[in-house]
Amino acid sequence: MPGMFTHEFATELYKGTATVNTGLFINGQFVDPVDRESIDVCSPQDGSVITKVSIGNAKDIDIAVKAALAAFKSSWGLKTPGYERGKLLYKLAELLEKNAGTLAAIEALDVGKPFVHASQDVQEAIDTLRYYAGWADKNHGQTIETTEAKFAYTRHEPIGVVAGIIPWNFPLTISIWKAAPALATGNAIVLKPSEVTPLSALKLAELVKEAGFPDGVFNVVTGYGATAGQAITEHPLVGKVSFTGSTIVGRKVMETAAKTNLKRVTLELGGKSPILIFDDADVEQTVKRVCGSTFYNSGQGCAAGTRILVQEGIYDKFLQVFADAAESLKQGDSFKATTQQGPLVSKTQLDRVLGYIESGKQEGARIVTGGSRAEGAGYFMRPTIFADVKPDMKIVREEIFGPVGVVIKFKTEEEAIEAANDTDYGLSSYVFTENLSRAIRVSNAIEAGNCFINQAILLCAQVPFGGYKQSGYGKEMGEYALEAYTQAKAVHVNLSLKL
Ligand code: NAD
Repeated sequence: MPGMFTHEFATELYKGTATVNTGLFINGQFVDPVDRESIDVCSPQDGSVITKVSIGNAKDIDIAVKAALAAFKSSWGLKTPGYERGKLLYKLAELLEKNAGTLAAIEALDVGKPFVHASQDVQEAIDTLRYYAGWADKNHGQTIETTEAKFAYTRHEPIGVVAGIIPWNFPLTISIWKAAPALATGNAIVLKPSEVTPLSALKLAELVKEAGFPDGVFNVVTGYGATAGQAITEHPLVGKVSFTGSTIVGRKVMETAAKTNLKRVTLELGGKSPILIFDDADVEQTVKRVCGSTFYNSGQGCAAGTRILVQEGIYDKFLQVFADAAESLKQGDSFKATTQQGPLVSKTQLDRVLGYIESGKQEGARIVTGGSRAEGAGYFMRPTIFADVKPDMKIVREEIFGPVGVVIKFKTEEEAIEAANDTDYGLSSYVFTENLSRAIRVSNAIEAGNCFINQAILLCAQVPFGGYKQSGYGKEMGEYALEAYTQAKAVHVNLSLKL
């Protein structure tokens, strides 16, 4: 193809401060895709083309999966002891630390988020790598008491080749959420980043190589969901898919896995998380945290608190302070220190969010602030608050994935819990109150995989994260994620002399 980049091409980003190799990373090398196709990667700040990356399809996925399987059998899995795997993960964490500025710049450019937020994402990735590096030689089975004549034990064995399918909102962090426990437990992995934000995974691949992981243990195939993603979920040699993305695609992943080799699936899907704010909460402090939940990453967060339930005694004051705070959020250039909010990731996403605003208006909700695109070439959207909403409105029921919150008044604790649980989703929840027993009682009653009390979302590598209901199942992070990447083998030994 004339003018086509090749895998040798390392594109220069952000005034030459960062380079990214734009090929597919398979078997320890950057290579061109079989069909030599590419896709433009665009800046959400102004729609300009940042670079092009390779587009892999089913043929490339097949090559990557087979390379991963060969590496798993010959030089990884049970062949590399846990403490060696741990050493490599510690080394990778060190390399991420050394390249933290570059990685954050790449993520800020690609996703459009403020550089300071991208730096926090990189730190979270480093912490997660170190956490699982520590686990690599500690994921033991059990010895099990049965009868005198039997010795039984379990082994926690890797699955083999696992795959991670990644969304566009936190590309590096979510890649590490999957790669770190997968590699710590001895699996080989094929990652498919989102076609919208593929760059940080490619930089990660370079660092994996530099860290000294055996070739084939870690692979990145950039490509579209309907082709490369679908090929992963169909592939008979992939033993597990860890998928993060929308509920609609998650359903498809599960269906394909069921129709092919019954590969294991974990799903981290969307959300419509409630924030419950009681009369005794400090309004100013609470608003700061609500902004940190509803508008963080321009609302493109699966765990964003988007249904804000406020008790009647502070409702009017809350709405006023919340609107003022939303209006004062500074949008702009990702690399300006004062920027608090970036654009939405793409024109498609902006149009989708604007569609929800229109639907809210048509269904009779009141816009307290925002409700439109912000000035300029980028995909900026003004933080938006709706009030006077009804439980059956689309803006109350569906995940918008933009800086949009709906505020609902409630009288009693029971009423708040019922409204909080009136959703198909169950990813996160937030409770604001100074009454500790109420906080715990309410968090126990909420049907969601996570509850933050008097806090905006703040994840830690040590604590599991995952959903209830249609927000998916299976946990990322914490000890729980080890189980998602291992299978327990039970071994029975006959101790009696009689066979
Ligand atoms: P998406 O479902 O459109 O895409 C996610 C990934 O799946 C991408 O890599 C995409 O290429 C791939 N894909 C698309 N079709 C596929 C198919 N048929 N087979 C296999 N893979 C396919 O989601 P998105 O727009 O990238 O991200 C936004 C969604 O992700 C939101 O719903 C959000 O809530 C969710 N999300 C969830 C979490 C979580 O941890 N629960 C975290 C981040 C994002």
